[in-house]
Amino acid sequence: MERTLILLKPDAVQRRLAGRIISRFEDKGLNFVAMKLLRVTPELAKKHYAEHVAKGWYPTLEQFITGGPIIAAIVEGLEAIQVVRDMLGATSGLKAAPGTIRGDYSSSRQMNLVHASDGPEAAKREIELYFKKEEIIEFAPTITPWLRAGDE
Ligand code: ADP
Ligand code: MG
Repeated sequence: MERTLILLKPDAVQRRLAGRIISRFEDKGLNFVAMKLLRVTPELAKKHYAEHVAKGWYPTLEQFITGGPIIAAIVEGLEAIQVVRDMLGATSGLKAAPGTIRGDYSSSRQMNLVHASDGPEAAKREIELYFKKEEIIEFAPTITPWLRAGDE
């Protein structure tokens, strides 16, 4: 079982797509174990996007990600990190395949609606950046026996 961090970015919240995007993860069988609305500060943005801070386009990314409320969440599931990244599609909404979230709803390289951790180390780091331990609610959905076989 894996956990990964997802952020519904300010464009997702402003465009009223949050419900539909959350539904996609629910429909897939992923389990939300934490969720909150917050405003990303410039300090948090620099920590979150540490790998991009030195890039020429970072200031516009920071302006975007701090420009309105976001919804942060942790989802859990088998191979959740890769499954969620695949559901997002390529970084640019112009390149992302139809059927992916970015491919279906985004026409932008930057305003691509959703962030998701790109590997186990990033998932651990990013979950700790956004959530305290006590904000994570562990539970087993009653539908679990109908989502996968017992030995998976
Ligand atoms: P991903 O979110 O798919 O992991 P990256 O880690 O490459 O993508 O980039 C982080 C975020 O920065 C992207 O999701 C997007 O919002 C933004 N971004 C990526 N490339 C550019 C760019 N060339 N110009 C402006 N913003 C960008
Ligand atoms: Mg990335």
